[in-house]
Amino acid sequence: MTDTVLIIGAGFAGLGTAIRLKQAGITDIVILERGSQVGGTWRDNTYPGAACDIPSLMYSFSFVPNPDWSRAYSGSAEILAYIDSMVERFDLRPHIHFGANVIGLHYDDESATWTAHTEDGRDFTGRTAVMAAGPLANPDWPDIPGIDGFTGKTIHSARWDHDYDVTDKRVGVIGTGASAVQIVPELVERASSVKVFQRTPGWVLPKPNPPHPHWLNAAFRRRPAVQSAARQALFWLHEVVALGVVWDSVATTAVQGIARAHLRLTVKDKWLRRQLTPDFRIGCKRILMTSDYYPALQQNNCKLITWPMYAISPNGIRTAEGVEHELDCIVFATGFDVSKTGTPFPITGSGGRVLGEEWATGAYAYKSVNVAGFPNLFFTFGPNSGPGHNSVLVYNEAQIDYIVSAIRLMRAEGVRAIDVRKDRQDEFNRDIQRRLESTTWNSGCQSWYLTEDGFNATMYPGFATQYVRQLSRVDLEDYTVALTTSDGGYRTAAST
Ligand code: NAP
Repeated sequence: MTDTVLIIGAGFAGLGTAIRLKQAGITDIVILERGSQVGGTWRDNTYPGAACDIPSLMYSFSFVPNPDWSRAYSGSAEILAYIDSMVERFDLRPHIHFGANVIGLHYDDESATWTAHTEDGRDFTGRTAVMAAGPLANPDWPDIPGIDGFTGKTIHSARWDHDYDVTDKRVGVIGTGASAVQIVPELVERASSVKVFQRTPGWVLPKPNPPHPHWLNAAFRRRPAVQSAARQALFWLHEVVALGVVWDSVATTAVQGIARAHLRLTVKDKWLRRQLTPDFRIGCKRILMTSDYYPALQQNNCKLITWPMYAISPNGIRTAEGVEHELDCIVFATGFDVSKTGTPFPITGSGGRVLGEEWATGAYAYKSVNVAGFPNLFFTFGPNSGPGHNSVLVYNEAQIDYIVSAIRLMRAEGVRAIDVRKDRQDEFNRDIQRRLESTTWNSGCQSWYLTEDGFNATMYPGFATQYVRQLSRVDLEDYTVALTTSDGGYRTAAST
């Protein structure tokens, strides 16, 4: 029982970890999922227009190829169907406990096991635990005065209410990030008026989205190598883009030039163009990929509001110059409450140390996967694992394979606990923070990548290739290892 692998979350990362564990012959897996369905962020983000801005051939697992993607960039329903299909294809359902909302995760030094406590009073214990809850799980409602007094409808982009019909309604959208630019074009089609409340404009690049022709999907089906080759080609194309969007360089100026030209070509009005021109380097905030947003903003029933919001009134939104914008519905496309400091629920490690306290000013880890003092605990999408230019699932696959290798190694060598060495972790993080200094993310804008103090606990400052390479092998030299002895006790590897 204690060799069980606990996985928290049944989104891409949790299911992917379970699949790779099963493929490695490890079957004592327990997946704890707070919802009643798998899919994580793709289950929750069903707003009109929800889609992925990374090509589906790369926004999927290489070990679960799907030859049937309908187009270059898929919508959320198709991505969710893909995630769902993994459950049946790899017989994962018996492992998943739905409605298991983890509210605490605790390590016991005596037994070298983790116990997850759920909101409904259940405990699940395992030798190892894998955090796969995802960073974009909890909606962020902004702290705008009067928010609770609005008498109309409020909807958060990450919890869309499909029972509410926006047809002929006066809708306000707060936010102009990756979610908002997908929602606004859809709302403009249906609502009587759409007012977009912008605090900061983002750089926008066009996103042509051709359907996959039948012959291409047939080729993928008949010759999986063709699909792998297409995936590889896209991967390397995105790696080249890193030169412009990860580091602040002449290539950044070139990419910014493309975004500026796109703005000039698609937005004719000079005033609007000025309002939509960011004052930060491209890449600093997430680049917005859309060909529909600028045209939608210029429709007769759409208006960009750039006056700061003063308050939400019972009837709408009041802006700083004293105008009240009357609305039937406010859409909060205001993003997620991402834990860059602290943890989503209390995690106590060896000796009762509290991870939330250690991460109080910013999260850090060893290679984004392990944290010293928290033996046998592994993170997916952990600190400094975010890409700015490539598919997050490429990074996720590397994390998963690293975790599965570590668990296999533990079993093969009779290891009861591995705990990453603090000196290795500190050295790793010094290097990460030094390398982050020259990136676009640290070039002076405010984004969800940074803490309020400007600490970057989110992004990986390099190519995807480098990230993957660093996780290609588990080196037990990086860890303090406790081995099980023949009498059932244990000793650290150093004393062998
Ligand atoms: P976001 O990028 O955090 O954007 C939130 C927006 O709300 C920003 O425009 C922000 O303005 C605004 N905002 C927040 N609080 C506000 C306040 N108090 N007053 C006024 N404006 C406020 O959130 P998101 O668009 O949901 O995207 C989050 C992440 O989800 C993305 O970065 C991406 O990783 C992921 N995502 C991916 C896709 C995809 O296609 N792959 C699509 C959607 C989302 P400021 O910029 O001024 O802070």
